[in-house]
Amino acid sequence: MPAFFCYNQVKLKAEEAPAIETPHTAANFIYAIIREDLKQNKNAGRVHTRFPPEPNGYLHIGHAKSICLNFGAALEFGGKCNLRFDDTNPAKEDTEYVDSIRADVRWLGFDWEDRLYYASDYFPRLYDFACRLIEKGLAYVCDLSAEEIRAYRGTLTEPGRESPYRERSAAENMDLFQRMRAGEFPNGARVLRARIDMASPNLNLRDPVLYRILHQAHHRTGDAWCIYPLYDFAHPLSDAIEGVTHSICTMEFEDHRPLYDWLTDNLIEENPPRQYEFARLDLTCTIMSKRLLRHLVEEGVVSGWDDPRMPTLSGLRRRGYTPEAIRNFCERIGVAKANSLVDTALLEYCLREDLNRRAERRMLVLRPLKVVIDNYPPEQIEYLEAENHPDSPEAGVRLIPFGREIYIENEDFMEDPPKKYFRLRPGGEVRLKHAYIITCTDLVRDDAGRVSEVHCLYDPLSKSGGPNAGRKVRGTLHWVAARESVPLEVRLYDSLLQDAPENPEAEEDGDLFSRLNPASLEVCRECRGEPALAAAGPGERFQFLRLGYFCADSRDAAFGHPVFNRIVGLRDTWAKIAQAQ
Ligand code: ATP
Ligand code: MG
Repeated sequence: MPAFFCYNQVKLKAEEAPAIETPHTAANFIYAIIREDLKQNKNAGRVHTRFPPEPNGYLHIGHAKSICLNFGAALEFGGKCNLRFDDTNPAKEDTEYVDSIRADVRWLGFDWEDRLYYASDYFPRLYDFACRLIEKGLAYVCDLSAEEIRAYRGTLTEPGRESPYRERSAAENMDLFQRMRAGEFPNGARVLRARIDMASPNLNLRDPVLYRILHQAHHRTGDAWCIYPLYDFAHPLSDAIEGVTHSICTMEFEDHRPLYDWLTDNLIEENPPRQYEFARLDLTCTIMSKRLLRHLVEEGVVSGWDDPRMPTLSGLRRRGYTPEAIRNFCERIGVAKANSLVDTALLEYCLREDLNRRAERRMLVLRPLKVVIDNYPPEQIEYLEAENHPDSPEAGVRLIPFGREIYIENEDFMEDPPKKYFRLRPGGEVRLKHAYIITCTDLVRDDAGRVSEVHCLYDPLSKSGGPNAGRKVRGTLHWVAARESVPLEVRLYDSLLQDAPENPEAEEDGDLFSRLNPASLEVCRECRGEPALAAAGPGERFQFLRLGYFCADSRDAAFGHPVFNRIVGLRDTWAKIAQAQ
């Protein structure tokens, strides 16, 4: 089994990881189980999975792991994967979330075909299942309050006590349950509980609650129901209703599996679904909890669920991430049982790898400094050829204007630079990408004494194809023509958190807010880009030379004035690590 970087380690840094595997080689124990099941012709050779989000928030990158695993299993083994909304809790759910989840799964590249389901569609059948349990003496209506139930449950070291209502007859239970459904009792007055074992070492088996009374409208079923099933009851039975064979979920449900099995053993005759747990994805410096993400949105810390700093799929999409990069990342991290923290650098590595291949190159200056080329004819504009992609000649070339006045990056000029500064300095020479070599001869200061303009001379013979084109110069700068360039806004991002949560599950909102990175967003409003960039459509991605990969924002842009999000910089620690090994 190929070793990979997320196994059996609580925390894993890029530096500690072994060399990068090619896709399809990372270990996936779930696929191994399915392969074995197929060999034994279990479930008559069927493989059927589901992705079951609760529509109470937007999907995040952690969900992508589950989506890739579930839909990926169907693709790998010629099976099927359903999209099922686990919408059994009317209090927190909303159709906005349903719509966003559908869009996100599609965007990731997966297809549920005609199998889009809602657990709420099963409410009548789930009710019938509950009645069957009552008839079999396996469920009872309990009048204890929520606090009493908790007090009776016992602890990990002490058994629970049986409810005084546990011995009600099937007929009485049926009558009460029907009246619960008919709306005769207020919220919290009664619950339906499984009758299993109050002394079980597994707390989940101590007569768990299956149904509760909640007089609240549901986003799909309206006022049709005033009792709602709990997740642990609804989930295995929804799986069974859909013919799911492998119900794949995260490790926190491991202790719930005996209840899953108890329900299917007692209610499902043929080919009951089986639950398998895998380690959830956690990423360094990334929040992976819908509750906390919702909090950031509600508190206005971010501009919305699709803020490009959010680890939501809609945020990553708006930022410019590609579904291919995310799928590739999910493939590479593999699937194991030990929880681990994956370095965000790996996700960025997968992203750069994809963007490098597909993004055309352009030039843009983030913080412009004017350069006047004194020996260039004042009114002349020439158009220089620039390749769109250095590795793909088929991407063609474009013409970029060059004139007497250009802009370079402010930080690419230093009056008194340290050693090994290969950019522009007084008396120094640099090459302008796709253009000429220039030499700095003079500078102009503003009233505050800052350099506001640099004067240079250019070597007319140093253009590509010219006799001095091969002349050796240490630095190459990006630039744009001053007059012919277009003004643009660019947003640079850093991670939302300064560090990763020690224990993401136990994260308190207060801790979260104290760890927010105050520098997660920098807006550059004075940028200048080459003219072609004015026509960039929403979602179009480019590499801006020396600056990274950028994507035209899909929300905040006016016609002819795109706003660019930096997707990721060019620095690639992961690639260096891989090379060094
Ligand atoms: P939260 O982020 O609030 O913990 P959740 O896990 O309850 O949300 P669901 O809508 O129930 O969100 O998740 C749908 C599926 O995605 C579940 O099967 C769940 O196990 C899986 N999932 C959720 N978070 C992750 C994660 N970080 N890594 C892998 N799978 C995940
Ligand atoms: Mg959940």
